[in-house]
This record gives sequence, C-alpha cells and structure tokens, in this order.
Amino acid sequence: MKSLKELTRPNIIALKPYSSARDEYNGAAASVFLDANENPYNLPHNRYPDPMQRDLKAELTKIKKVSTEHIFLGNGSDEAIDLVYRAFCEPGRDNVVAIDPTYGMYQVCADVNDVEYRKVLLDDVYQFSADKLLAAADEQTKLIFLCSPNNPTGNDLLRSEIEKLLNTFDGLVILDEAYNDFSESPSFLEELDKYPNLIVFQTFSKAWGCAAIRLGMAFASAEIITILSKIKYPYNVNQLTQEQAISMLQKYDEIERWVKILKEERTRLMATFVALPCVQHVFRSDANFFLARVSDAGAIYNYLVAKGIIVRNRSSISLCGSCLRVTVGTPEENEQLLKALQAYGK
Ligand SMILES: *Cc1c(COP(=O)(O)O)cnc(C)c1O
Repeated sequence: MKSLKELTRPNIIALKPYSSARDEYNGAAASVFLDANENPYNLPHNRYPDPMQRDLKAELTKIKKVSTEHIFLGNGSDEAIDLVYRAFCEPGRDNVVAIDPTYGMYQVCADVNDVEYRKVLLDDVYQFSADKLLAAADEQTKLIFLCSPNNPTGNDLLRSEIEKLLNTFDGLVILDEAYNDFSESPSFLEELDKYPNLIVFQTFSKAWGCAAIRLGMAFASAEIITILSKIKYPYNVNQLTQEQAISMLQKYDEIERWVKILKEERTRLMATFVALPCVQHVFRSDANFFLARVSDAGAIYNYLVAKGIIVRNRSSISLCGSCLRVTVGTPEENEQLLKALQAYGK
C-alpha cells in the first residue's frame, strides 16, 4: 500500500478543520452554556449535537466490536461515499475503479467530484476478478469500489478475490457491506487490523430498519477515520438521529429477529418465484432482495404498478437485461406480490 500521505489530496492534508464551540469545550460538568450562540429556550433541541457522536459510538462499539477510533458516522453511507472522493481523489486527475453493475451512488459521486470512474464488468455469475480490476487501475487510481452482497445482483462477492485485491492493490479498497446482515459470510470488520487499505461501509438503512434517520457507518484504520472526520460537516449527524440510533442499538435482539424473518421470507419468495411461468431465472441472493429474469420486465413492472405493488425494473443495467429487483417485504406483502404474479397472463 502507498502511504496515506501519498493517497490523500495535499489540500486535505494541509486542512485546518473548523473548530466548533462543542469541539473546544466538551467537558460534562458545566451547567451554563453561553458559548455557541444557541437559544436557551426550547430544550432539548436548542443545543447543537455532539459533533463526534460519542454516546452513539460507545453503544456501537458493543455491537460491532470495533473501537471508536475506527468508526466514522455520516448522513447515510452516501456521505461516506462522497467524502472518500473528496479526501483522496484530485478532481480532473485521479480515478477510481469499480465493479459493474453495482450501486449507482459510486458513479454519481465520482461525476460530482469530477473523478474518472472506470467500470469493470462482472462475469456471468456476477463475480469479479481481482486481476481484472487491477488491470484497469493505474498510478492515478486511488480507490477501488466493491459491494458485497452486491446491489443490484444480490450475491456475496468471493472472499478469496476480495482478499487478493486487499493484498495487492496499493490504494484503498472500499467494501460496501450495506446488506451483510442478511448474508452468511462474516463481515470484513474483523479484518480491519490486517488490512490498512480497507474501508468498510455499513448503514442503518437496511437491516436496522432506519432509512429515515440517515445514518451510515465507515470503519477503517484510525488514520483514515481521522481524515474523514476532519472534512465532514461539523454537525453531520443530527441529535434526533443520534438518539434514535442509540435506542435501536439497545434493542439489537429485535433487529436479529427481523433479519431472521426476512431471510426466511427470502427463501420462500425465491422458491415460489422459480415456479412462476413468467420467471426465467432467479439469481442467488445473500441480501434482503433478489434479482429475477422475467419474460417481459416492462410489462410485468407496469402490471404490478397497476395493482399498487412496486418492484424495481433493472433491465437497463449491465448484465441485468429483463430483470426485476424485488425487495423482501412482510409475509403479507410478499403474499400479495405472489398472488398478483400467479394471476399474470391469466
Ligand atoms: C441502500 C444502500 C446503501 C445505503 O445508503 P444510505 O445512504 O446509508 O441509506 C449503501 N450501499 C448500498 C450498496 C445500498 O444498496
């Protein structure tokens, strides 16, 4: 791996971050706060939130078994995606490499930041080759994006290839584990100490059932986390979000229960899909959604919309021709979908 100094943009290394009132005084004993131009009325929402989210990170360490200096929290994973470009990629000069197809935000953030985005097609079983990604990279490649389980394909990427990439790429590897809770594969969080070039993204938006609160997590070496924390907006995670996330972390058994139900429903839905006349192929899934190749994606999509059921038409995406992406819902919602599809064409 190149040194972090070589990988980071010079202006970011030189940056002196904004210092807020909450940064300068964060002792607990005081009772009169006249330092941040806040309104003394309208408790508890009159005060700025903790910019470092200490209480929330303390709860998170218990569940994730990672110490706080390895944790960055942002306004959704989307913030972390944007920040890795802003920290490491010089606009108009540097580039990134990513698997294709994958989550659309990696490319959108590359375009916003004027960073060249190089796509490398997956194979016909939606796996990647570390060698092919490395062949697409050059001196100016700062980041490689992986997503496992991948969106929209739903499958885990091969662990041996991920390890090979981590061992051979001299830039940073972003591994998006938004759907790892639904997979049998262990998270790469356990490997953080082994790979200084690894950044793992996770989110509260999927298994945690908290898409509305906008909370994303990035896990990496303390040095990388320091860089991301330095360039984030000072109060990027609001107070309501911090409070809600803490209460979710305190009922982790409930999240495990949801995940168990969703995995059982995934199995049931996929098995029923395989037998539907309009379905040609159901792809392996390690996530809370799956991809199905159907006879006529556009027609079936519109048919379902007319019945008030919305799935995602992914037919225009690379390697996903004629494919619909179906999120696993409650047993009742899944039943409605199956009933509708069983009646399709009749
Ligand atoms: C849904 C999803 C996310 C979540 O993004 P948030 O901004 O945290 O809601 C991240 N990565 C992938 C691949 C996703 O599909």
